[in-house]
Amino acid sequence: MDRNLNGHHDLSLNDHVVVIGGGISGLAAAHRLLRVASGARVTLLEADNRLGGKIVTHNVDGFLIEGGADSFLASKPRGVGLCAEIGLGDHLQGVTPRRRRAFVLSHGHLHDLPEGLSGLVPTRLMPIARSSLLSPLGKARVALEFVLPRRHGEEDESLGGFMRRRLGSEAWERLIEPLMAGIYAADGDALSLAATFPQLRDAERVHGGVIKGALAARPRAQASGMAPRSPFLTPIGGIGELVTTLAITLTSGGVTICMGTPVTAVDVVPGGYVVRLASGNTVLANAVVVATPAFAAAQMLDAIDGGLVTDLAAIAYVSTAIVTFAFRRDQISHPLDAHGYVVPRIEGGPILACTWPSRKWAGRAPEGWELIRVFIGRSGRESDLAGDDESLFALARREVVDRLGTTASPTRQRIDRWPRGMPQYLLGHPERVARIELAVRGHRGLFLAGSAYHGVGIPDCIASGEAAADAVGATIAMRGA
Ligand SMILES: Cc1cc2nc3c(=O)[nH]c(=O)nc-3n(C[C@H](O)[C@H](O)[C@H](O)COP(=O)(O)OP(=O)(O)OC[C@H]3O[C@@H](n4cnc5c(N)ncnc54)[C@H](O)[C@@H]3O)c2cc1C
Repeated sequence: MDRNLNGHHDLSLNDHVVVIGGGISGLAAAHRLLRVASGARVTLLEADNRLGGKIVTHNVDGFLIEGGADSFLASKPRGVGLCAEIGLGDHLQGVTPRRRRAFVLSHGHLHDLPEGLSGLVPTRLMPIARSSLLSPLGKARVALEFVLPRRHGEEDESLGGFMRRRLGSEAWERLIEPLMAGIYAADGDALSLAATFPQLRDAERVHGGVIKGALAARPRAQASGMAPRSPFLTPIGGIGELVTTLAITLTSGGVTICMGTPVTAVDVVPGGYVVRLASGNTVLANAVVVATPAFAAAQMLDAIDGGLVTDLAAIAYVSTAIVTFAFRRDQISHPLDAHGYVVPRIEGGPILACTWPSRKWAGRAPEGWELIRVFIGRSGRESDLAGDDESLFALARREVVDRLGTTASPTRQRIDRWPRGMPQYLLGHPERVARIELAVRGHRGLFLAGSAYHGVGIPDCIASGEAAADAVGATIAMRGA
């Protein structure tokens, strides 16, 4: 699979497509190219010594540990779709239904997340009314959303501003913000509503409110059979199977995969591009799909288009880290009768969430053992990650002692750091992405894909890689016509 480019490769310009970045976006692009550009040679260049980017599954001593992403949304078509195409369709598992429960930390205590949330929106008022998470006033304010008039006007607003306006500050800060932060690690008051949850904006416009919108969507989803068994899915052997299976499919389809091959620049040459490698070698291509984080794309496209590069470099990123502990079951006093808990920003601590993979998924730990996953880092609190690994282990350890009553040191611990790992779709993001896409259209044979543009979730990344590949296919077809 790992064929390094040794020596100077002046590859023929005849329909050679280079994909830069071997995360899920680049892998999905290369996979789609096998179909839509079947006559072309495809080379995938990855800086790291492994494929997968933010997807990495560690198998150690009977534990299955996810270092980054752990699953994908079942309701978005391209996660399930790609798995079916590469033979993983019957090999997907959902979260364990028995304990499909989660908590929210509030004033230092764990409270049940009310049932009936659809996306970020409560659709049933009884669980909200019974919840210990909100005050009576906060609950009344949620109910008021039913009769609140819709706002007119086209301009974007922040997710936090929108949610406070529709459901009240308390519901935002104590209930919705921590769920949002679990996806974006973001400051919701800076996130673009249009870029992150456009369906909520549409719900207000079309149905008059977010609760009415969620209620209207429910029967549609049920009738279409789209209401999935489990909201999240992952291959039985962990999300890393998506990467290893794709790599095998690509290699057997004839794609050349080069790992440990950082790209430093992409320059224009007659008929295509020259891709410059850190090794000093060059690769010629008719078409290039850049599927790296936006800041890396900005660096490599520097010589091509200053305006494009300015917009790419302006996409902000947040760093996070995941600490995973293995404990013996009898070392934890909490019953772990849920999938974990999220921590609102308003609680003020460095921890974003704590999940219990051995309770959320089957087959993650040997009998009698538990895995605990602690998420650290969020927008505006980057200094929480400045310490060395030992200090982050200590931070995570304090969290599990305080909340879960662990009585012993973990038998196993590991940390996965994600520096600038999460793109932030801040206010102005849709306009910035529109400018980027307009600029890229001016460079024939150049395409972008990845989590920086139209969605950070795995299915969105797959869709972006596939869209870039389709555009490559269309370009090749036009040239051949
Ligand atoms: C901690 C964490 C947890 C997450 N959990 C989930 C989850 O449970 N479900 C979900 O749907 N999403 C989740 N996400 C989001 C999702 O995992 C990512 O958005 C997605 O995997 C990004 O894929 P990508 O291919 O666009 O980018 P990346 O995964 O970042 O891949 C980009 C690749 O480009 C390579 N690269 C960079 N520069 C160069 C260069 N100069 N030359 C060559 N190669 C280069 C990188 O090494 C990398 O392999 C999570 C993200 C993080 C950080």
